[in-house]
Amino acid sequence: MRQLIAGNWKMNGLGASLAELDVIANHVASHPPHADILICPPATLIARAVATAKECLAIGGQDCRAEISGAFTGDVSAEMLKDAGAAFVIVGHSERRQYHQETDATVAAKANAAHRAGLVAIVCIGETEAERNAGKALDVVARQIEGSVPQQAPISSIVIAYEPVWAIGTGRTPTSSEIAEMHAHLRKRLIARLGAHAKDVRLLYGGSVKPSNAREILALPEVGGALVGGASLKASDFQPIFEAAARNS
Ligand code: PEP
Repeated sequence: MRQLIAGNWKMNGLGASLAELDVIANHVASHPPHADILICPPATLIARAVATAKECLAIGGQDCRAEISGAFTGDVSAEMLKDAGAAFVIVGHSERRQYHQETDATVAAKANAAHRAGLVAIVCIGETEAERNAGKALDVVARQIEGSVPQQAPISSIVIAYEPVWAIGTGRTPTSSEIAEMHAHLRKRLIARLGAHAKDVRLLYGGSVKPSNAREILALPEVGGALVGGASLKASDFQPIFEAAARNS
């Protein structure tokens, strides 16, 4: 399975930032990587990002509302993202869970909406530092898989991103053996929930991925790519990350 290297720009980026995307797209065109590349800019930039990407990389949203349309001021539906040219949408990022009180049930509804609209949902899960220190990390993510991953969604419409909350934007990462242990656990839980074909669901690692640690993380068993925040904002940081992707197909 080809790895997926996804950039999450969060609430960063104005029109001028598309120059970075243009550099990435040109680089991908001239040096095709071993991985699929995705950038999730703010919603305001999606349509222009799709034009800039010139089909060299995919563009995604960072969130969607579960409903198709209606009186939900300020929200964006999965259908609207699709209409703007997005192919993916991140759902259940820990910042959404923290600042918007999103529950596993909300996240599952958003993942279903993504499938309905023809988008791939990147479902984010991960434990807090207190949960890891209490020895509860494996249980927490198992619960999040049960609650956030819709059982009826086809395998091709789901990607899982394991993002320990304490590793996001902190410069700290779990050890390689902790990441490998977690990804093996996630694979088992997904197969238990969705069936044997869940062996084909890409499991991304996210949390302080940077040029200096990408190769080691991306070489770990069951790591199907990375979700990258800060280091996706500049082409000069993001390129070495996707060039470190394992040659899997
Ligand atoms: C993220 O926001 O999904 C993320 C992984 O951020 P960072 O790479 O900056 O830790």
